[in-house]
Amino acid sequence: MSQILNADLHCHSVVSDGTLTPEALAERAARNGVELWSLTDHDEVGGQHRAAAAASAHGMKYLTGTEISVTFAGETVHIVGLGFDPDDAAVSEGLHDTRGGRGKRAQEMSDGLARVGIHGAYEGALRFVGNPELVSRTHFARFLVEQGHCKDTSEVFRKFLTEGKPGFVPHRWASLKDAVSWIKGAGGLAVIAHPARYRFTANEEYALFVEFKAHGGEAIEVVTGSHTPAEYEEYADKALEFDFAASRGSDFHSPGESHCDLGQLALLPGRLTPVWELLEHRLR
Ligand code: AMP
Ligand code: MN
Ligand code: MN
Ligand code: MN
Repeated sequence: MSQILNADLHCHSVVSDGTLTPEALAERAARNGVELWSLTDHDEVGGQHRAAAAASAHGMKYLTGTEISVTFAGETVHIVGLGFDPDDAAVSEGLHDTRGGRGKRAQEMSDGLARVGIHGAYEGALRFVGNPELVSRTHFARFLVEQGHCKDTSEVFRKFLTEGKPGFVPHRWASLKDAVSWIKGAGGLAVIAHPARYRFTANEEYALFVEFKAHGGEAIEVVTGSHTPAEYEEYADKALEFDFAASRGSDFHSPGESHCDLGQLALLPGRLTPVWELLEHRLR
């Protein structure tokens, strides 16, 4: 385990807002030299058995994964769960409830876009959805790019889908406490995803780390496709300061959209405890 270097513990399939199947992701990960892999679809575990089987077919070790949407201090925070039982009833129910508001939110997003002259966005986004329970902003972004409103999905988020923009609808997700307790209750480990991406003040980030730890959270992502190399160093120091283990994952969504491919990130800084060292007993 400790000899594993190329772990990629964060990516998305068609079961959430990625464009590849779990099998195609496994093949791509293996081709890129990934030794330990996890599929972490948003608020879903529907792809877990397929991902684990595909990992095994390609000779990779596998950890169960998900990325749970949480509301903390008025901001959406993502908590990655690793190494839990994918068939746990409390996890299924908790994630089902977390997905629950997405349909109505999508209708409201579409209404907001219609007010600025973009019509049919709900139906349009649905054409890009692989899982009807998981309509995401990403699917709207793909529709708006297809319709020529923007050149890429980043531009759609900037102009239409972030706070204050016409397609943004505030939403209340799971609580931090619940998300961590679902993962831990099913034998897994909770990780704060891409901590540098939240628009928190230093005090708010401190509160997030302290509360997360108090609920039993054990790790943060340090090397992720959503961090810059300077942020790897900044959050490596914070992992040590708060005594968190460190995770590594590309957050790969799609060959055409993601700038960081599976398994092609920098290695974790050597001074950190890799999260997989704490999950040896949960490998599949
Ligand atoms: P949702 O869960 O529906 O709010 O959608 C969140 C997803 O949108 C994230 O997981 C990313 O895949 C995507 N996303 C968020 N911000 C951006 C951005 N600035 N550019 C591209 N994709 C983004
Ligand atoms: Mn996503
Ligand atoms: Mn995320
Ligand atoms: Mn993600």
